[in-house]
Amino acid sequence: MATFPDIAGPIDVSARAGRVRQGWRGSDRFADMAALVVTDLTNIRWLTGFTGSAGTAVVLPDEVVLVTDGRYGDQAERQLAGARCRSSIRIGRTAGEQLALLAEVVAGVDRLGFESAHTTHARWCQLVDALSMELIPTSGLVEACRRTKDGAEIARIERACAIADLALAEVVPTIVPGRTEAQVRNDLERLMREFGATGPSYETIVAAGPVNAPLPHHRPTETVIEEGHTVVIDVGALVDGYHSDMTRTFLVGTPSALQREVYEAVLDAQVAGVAAVRPGLTTAELDAVCRDRLTQAGFGPWFSHGTGHGVGLLIHEDPFVNSAGGWVLQEGDVVTVEPGVYRGDFGGVRVEDLVEVTSTGGRALTRSPKEDPCLPSAPTT
Ligand code: ZN
Ligand code: ZN
Repeated sequence: MATFPDIAGPIDVSARAGRVRQGWRGSDRFADMAALVVTDLTNIRWLTGFTGSAGTAVVLPDEVVLVTDGRYGDQAERQLAGARCRSSIRIGRTAGEQLALLAEVVAGVDRLGFESAHTTHARWCQLVDALSMELIPTSGLVEACRRTKDGAEIARIERACAIADLALAEVVPTIVPGRTEAQVRNDLERLMREFGATGPSYETIVAAGPVNAPLPHHRPTETVIEEGHTVVIDVGALVDGYHSDMTRTFLVGTPSALQREVYEAVLDAQVAGVAAVRPGLTTAELDAVCRDRLTQAGFGPWFSHGTGHGVGLLIHEDPFVNSAGGWVLQEGDVVTVEPGVYRGDFGGVRVEDLVEVTSTGGRALTRSPKEDPCLPSAPTT
C-alpha cells in the first residue's frame, strides 16, 4: 500500500464554481446568463463535494446553494465544509418545499440556465411552474470544466489504477484451463476491495474463447477457459468516487499464428496511440492513429468501437475518442486508449490503458505488463 498515491483529506472544490461561471460568461451563447440550476448528481458532487442521492445545486453569481432533503442535512454540511465549498445548504422536507426553496434562491435572477441533458421533462415542468420564469437550456457547462482533473483527482485515479494492476497481477497465474470467467471476475473484484477500493469501477469483463471474447462488453458466465482461448479482461477499481479502466488480453496455451498476428497488431496500434497522446491533438486524430495501424495490418473492419473515452467520476465521460471526435486534448484530461479486434475465428483482443494528458504528452496510469500475452507463462514486469 505504501507505494499508492496519497489521497488523504477531501478534494478542495472551492475554485470550481468560479471556473464554471467563467466558462459560460466567456461563451457566445450564455454570456448574459446569471445563474445555473445543476440537477446532475455527478456535477453536484464535483461542484460541492456532496455525494447524496438527491439534491439540486444553483450556481449563483457569488455562491453555490445546495437544496436537498432532511435525510442529507448533516452529511451535506460535513461534506461541503470538508470540500471547502462556499455554499449554503437549504433543507426541504418535501419535493414541494424544495421547489419553494429553489424559487427563493433564484428570486431576482433574470436569466437562469438549466442542464437540458440531465433534466427530465417532468422535472423541467415542475421547475418552470415553481420558479415562474423561462429557463435557458444549456449542456456540458459543468462537464467542460470537470474533464480537467486536478492533482487530487489524478491521485485517486492513479490509486484506482494501481489497485487494478495489483489485483490483475495476483490473478494472472490462476488463469488456467478449467477455471471459469466468473471465478476470475470474482477473484479480481475481491482483491480490489482487499487492496482498498470501494469496489469495481464497473462490472468486470472476463471474456474467454471464440464465442465470448469477440463481445466487447461480455458479462462473465460459467464459461470454462480452455487451451487456445483468447481471454479479454477489462478491469477497473473505484477509489473515493474516481474510476480506473484497463484491459489486458491473454492467450491460453500455444497461440495460433492468427492470434499472434492479431495481438501484435492491436498492441502496436495501442502503443502508438498512447505515445501519440499530447495536448492539442484532436480526439479524431488520436482515433486515427490506432485505426490506421489496424487498417494497414488488415484488421480495420474488426475494430468495431471508438478508441477511448474520458474517465473520472464517471467511467465514460468527456472527452470521447472516436472518429467523429471534435474534442481537442488538453492538460488534465484522463482518457483511455483501447483499440480492439473481434472475430469469431480467433476470439477477441483488446489492450487498454488509462492515460493522463500532461503539459507535454501523455502518462500511462495503468501499468500492467502487456508485451507478453501468453499464459501460463507468467507475464514479465
Ligand atoms: Zn475498459
Ligand atoms: Zn474503457
